[in-house]
Amino acid sequence: MAATTLLWLRRGLRLADNPALVAACERAADASGGGAVIPVYIDSPDEDGDWSAGAASKWWLHHSLAALSKSLKDRGSRLVIRRGRCEEVLRELIDESGADAVYWDRCYEPAAIERDKRIKSALRDDDIEAKSFNLSLLFEPWEVKTKAGDPYKVFTPFWKTCTDRPVPEKTCEAPNPGSMPSPKKWPKSFKLDELKLLPKIDWAKGIREAWTPGEQGAAEAIEQFLDEAIRNYDEDRDRPDVHGTSRLSPHLHFGEIGPRQIWHAVTKRINAGMSQHNRKHAWSYLREVGWREFAYHLIYHFPDTADNPLRPEFKKFPWKKNAKALNAWQKGLTGYPSVDAGMRELWHIGWMHNRVRMIVASFLVKDLLISWQDGAAWFWDTLVDADLASNTLGWQWTAGCGADAAPYFRVFNPTLQGKKFDPDGAYVRKWVPELAKLEDKYIHEPAKAPAEVLKAAGITLGKDYPKPIVDHSEARDKALAALDTIKKSK
Ligand code: FAD
Repeated sequence: MAATTLLWLRRGLRLADNPALVAACERAADASGGGAVIPVYIDSPDEDGDWSAGAASKWWLHHSLAALSKSLKDRGSRLVIRRGRCEEVLRELIDESGADAVYWDRCYEPAAIERDKRIKSALRDDDIEAKSFNLSLLFEPWEVKTKAGDPYKVFTPFWKTCTDRPVPEKTCEAPNPGSMPSPKKWPKSFKLDELKLLPKIDWAKGIREAWTPGEQGAAEAIEQFLDEAIRNYDEDRDRPDVHGTSRLSPHLHFGEIGPRQIWHAVTKRINAGMSQHNRKHAWSYLREVGWREFAYHLIYHFPDTADNPLRPEFKKFPWKKNAKALNAWQKGLTGYPSVDAGMRELWHIGWMHNRVRMIVASFLVKDLLISWQDGAAWFWDTLVDADLASNTLGWQWTAGCGADAAPYFRVFNPTLQGKKFDPDGAYVRKWVPELAKLEDKYIHEPAKAPAEVLKAAGITLGKDYPKPIVDHSEARDKALAALDTIKKSK
């Protein structure tokens, strides 16, 4: 009997380490009359609710789909692109192609889980085989539990339980050219451009120059990281002035590489005789990948947290609406160089260093008392790696209202953070060029520079670069007073 499988690619936009693809090819090979595999991408922004892809993510998605489509063509296959409600589109495709199975990669966001459950049960009711596969995580969120059988809310024991489990399964190779059986007739497809994922006005020059979306780009990024930066990861990962991290986050978000591939690539190097010193850094790196797992664990078990604080008392936190301050933060015009550098890096290349994400987020929620949800929404639109699980974790961590969060009373001082992690100000000089000529001593606090120093650097404060929009120590006191109000109302 012929067997045609729709391979519904969602956020596993790759051919290697893709068990759904392997299973679809095996199913076709096992069928007596010869089967077929039809790779499909469905654009369905309406089904993601408030969390449909932001502008920077759409840019990435366009290029990732282009790369995937080319890889499939190189193997004699195609990517069928459709638009509409997923269930309806799958039904149409089943009618058009005679497919009797749909395989897909698992997503863990609340809206996706609801939709996928509905689709799985409706397809099975109609005798269509519906199967989902893990392409995205080392460990399924429901497999990792405390001794009491509960989900974890603290990272360290979570990661210990994960690493005590059997190592993640081996990865599988991308299929060879010619091994992806095509249908006799391909269903019709949108052209990628018709999805209109690219911006109408081209603001993406900086993003284009910084990134290579797609599976090949991800493979090159990890190789480069393993050859170079992993050697000093644990120290350099906090330094925004150094290229010390893997920059794999957008590739991971779109599933161009999976954490299993990272795990095995890193442990292969460890087992191939890495020095004791380098091993330490390699395990630190895997631990960071563990934070991503933790983020997915949390969003799966606490689906409400994309919009609401995990700690309910924070629902009463007296956040302020302050459009002017929010705008200054978004544009990188707060008068605090480490904050402004981060926000401008984000605007230019759609990504920001993790240490700086913490600094800018803390500044928003503590110095400006603007809600973490407002910050998360801006990140959502501007990050190429915008990811509901990791963004929620990052913002709730900073705001002190999430799992294993930094306590709210611990307020980052943006000037000291800058001095510590960008000691010569190279990061600030790169992204805030109007400060480039300022002496090292004042690079993180231009407002304290004597008039002649500012003059020598060609800076008039308030004209070339803003004066600080808040006084940090006063803002800190206000933040702690705001915290007291929720403590009292508990
Ligand atoms: P590396 O240091 O090379 O780490 C490797 C991988 O581990 C990353 O690619 C990422 O997948 C994972 N990882 C590392 N640190 C974290 C972390 N703290 N939390 C979760 N996963 C982590 N990450 C996103 O992928 N998408 C987001 O939308 C996002 N929003 C954030 C918002 C805030 C306020 C904060 C503080 C952090 C956020 N992060 C987010 C986490 C982190 O900043 C990025 O994953 C990291 O900067 C990506 O750079 P990298 O790939 O070079 O990281």
